Amino acid sequence: MKLALLSESPSDEAALRVLVEAVLGAPPRYVGAGYRARGWPNVAQVLPAVIRHLHFNTDTDALVVVVDSDDSKVHTEEHDKPGYFHPHCRMCQLRAVFRQTMKRLPPAHGRERVLRGVGIAVPAIEAWYLCGRDPSVSEAAWTAGQESGRQPYSRPELKWRVYGTDRPSLPHQTRCALHEVERHRRDPRRLENDFPGFRALANDLRTRSGVKG
Ligand SMILES: [Zn+2]
Repeated sequence: MKLALLSESPSDEAALRVLVEAVLGAPPRYVGAGYRARGWPNVAQVLPAVIRHLHFNTDTDALVVVVDSDDSKVHTEEHDKPGYFHPHCRMCQLRAVFRQTMKRLPPAHGRERVLRGVGIAVPAIEAWYLCGRDPSVSEAAWTAGQESGRQPYSRPELKWRVYGTDRPSLPHQTRCALHEVERHRRDPRRLENDFPGFRALANDLRTRSGVKG
C-alpha cells in the first residue's frame, strides 16, 4: 500500500508512521516526504491542493491526515449517519474536503481516487501518547468534560505528562512520542478502544488495504 501523510509536525509524523504500521501489520511505502500544515484551519486549507497533487502526480493509494481536535466538537456515531455533517466537527469537515475535492477529478494513474485516512486526536495527539499509561486520559473523559464544563485535563497538562515540559524541543518531543507509541506497535486495540478518533483512521486504512480489523 502506498501512503502519503499530512500532519502538524515532524514529531507527529514519526509517531504516526508507527501507528499506521501497527494497524496495517506491515510497513506501507511512503510517497515522498510527509506533508506539513500548521494546525487548524491550515490543514483543511491545504488539503485540497495536497489531494489533487497526489492524485495527478503520484500513484499514492491513500492520504493519512491527523489533526488535533483542540476545543472543537468531538465526532460521534451520530455523525456517521448517511448525509449527516456537523459543521464544527473536524472529522466531518476533513471527510467533506476529501469528498468534494475528489468528486471533480477524473481517474488518474489507474485508480479512481486517492483514498482518505482521517484521524482526529482528542483533544491533542499527546492524549494518544498517554493511552495505556494514564487511565484518566481518553476521548470519553474529554467529551464528558466538555458536556459538564469541567475539563479533566488541559492540553498543556497533557504535554507536561508526555514531555515533562509544555515547550519541548523537536528532538525531545520526537523521542518521547516514539517511546510512548511503542506500547501500541504490537497491538493498537487499546488505542482504538479509548480513542474513536484513532479507530476511524484505523478503519479507513483497513478498509482500503483489505486488512481485517
Ligand atoms: Zn463529525
